[in-house]
Amino acid sequence: MIPVQGYETRKVAVLGLGRSGLATAAALRAGGADALCWDDSAEARAAAEAAGHTIHDLTRGNAWEGVDALIVSPGIPHLYPEPNKLIARAMDAGVPVDNDIGLFFHSFATGEWDEFEVMPRIVAVTGSNGKSTTSALIHHILSETGRATQLAGNIGRGVLDIDPAHDGEVVVLELSSYQTDLARALTPDVAVFTNLSPDHLDRHGGMGGYFAAKRRLFAEGGPDRAVIGVDEAEGVFLAGQLAEGATDDRVIRVSVDRKLTGPGWQVFARKGYLSEYRKGRQVASIDLRGVKGLPGSHNHQNACCAYAVCRTLGLAPRVIEQAFHSFKGLPHRSQIVGEAGGVTWVNDSKATNVDAATAALQAFDRIRWIGGGLGKDGGIEDLAPHLGAVVKAYLIGHSARDFALQLGDVPHQICETMAAAVAAAAKDAEAGDTVLLAPAAASFDQYPNFEKRGEDFTRLVQNLL
Ligand code: ADP
Repeated sequence: MIPVQGYETRKVAVLGLGRSGLATAAALRAGGADALCWDDSAEARAAAEAAGHTIHDLTRGNAWEGVDALIVSPGIPHLYPEPNKLIARAMDAGVPVDNDIGLFFHSFATGEWDEFEVMPRIVAVTGSNGKSTTSALIHHILSETGRATQLAGNIGRGVLDIDPAHDGEVVVLELSSYQTDLARALTPDVAVFTNLSPDHLDRHGGMGGYFAAKRRLFAEGGPDRAVIGVDEAEGVFLAGQLAEGATDDRVIRVSVDRKLTGPGWQVFARKGYLSEYRKGRQVASIDLRGVKGLPGSHNHQNACCAYAVCRTLGLAPRVIEQAFHSFKGLPHRSQIVGEAGGVTWVNDSKATNVDAATAALQAFDRIRWIGGGLGKDGGIEDLAPHLGAVVKAYLIGHSARDFALQLGDVPHQICETMAAAVAAAAKDAEAGDTVLLAPAAASFDQYPNFEKRGEDFTRLVQNLL
């Protein structure tokens, strides 16, 4: 745990008592603060009280007297679609509002760092897609090369839950727009922006607000190095705004759309090859086509971002290349869960929206596609142009029939359940095919979450093989 610094003997309110709220309250107490906890749910309050936390009713008129800060959980919208009443009252009373990420950046460095030979570093990754894969890949490469490293943030482990730093350690943080939007301190050494596509627009008051939330990672303090995907207009803008000039190599541009030219520092992937150029000359090239854990152009983007970060940390291209090959991929993201008779079975249950499913459907040839679930607005209208590699669709869940109507000429079968879809695909599949679960829909009609859906698929495949 990282004890929170700067609030010794002071009162700090904590709003939202989920996993991250409780971890924040514990870290505040470890740092000597008085953590005053509140959640709208009586059940959450009871659980927190049972765990030894102090409950403080933030709805009372005098709730903010003597309170020095309010720490808000990432799941609570503060401004859009409408202002949160408690947060608005805190701001009205002049109480600074922050989150666990802000507390982390304030608290991570301690006096003991004076004894270290190599300063610990923080790498922070944001973007619409690929954050988890990129963060996990950076962490994997560093681990493989024997560097001390910890992984936290949106990826499962709260930032205040990590261990205090070791000499020379690299902490890799995955940060969502919810997290970067509110943090009062954001001072990574290296920051990554993978890409941008519309998501969570209600929460950010539209696309401009969403981009602005992500951009804060580069503006509040300014990282020493910024790795920026420039395949959307926003990335081009951000890179341009940060760089002092064309040769400024504090900014590393990344693309999977085009060859990047220019005198600066750039990493791009084309036709399966990653290239690094610096000062107008090619520094390295890596063949990504045989890297099983990173299939498809979307994963090549993640690979380029992770590569660039590791280069800024001083790793050699060949060392990074070797580590790419031992990366197994994250569960439920283009994850190979079985291979038999020339047929590959891939679990991308995390593809809960059309964008993510499009990426997965472009990563393989001859696809037997398992899709469906609880479809989003517009169904698969925007996916239809990307179904060229699909030889047959096996549709499940609530939206199966709606999806079938939007498939065009692609042969399909309504299977209803995952078990029926896996059985039908197994019966049809021939050597060279990939059976891909990439639902383009939420899982809640048939499963508690996308993880359980992916686990069901994996179990069925393993039983079959
Ligand atoms: P995030 O943490 O940003 O949600 P993940 O790495 O968990 O990203 O991937 C989420 C989904 O998006 C998966 O379905 C995955 O296949 C797809 N995906 C991964 N990387 C990218 C990328 N760079 N561009 C587009 N889609 C991606």
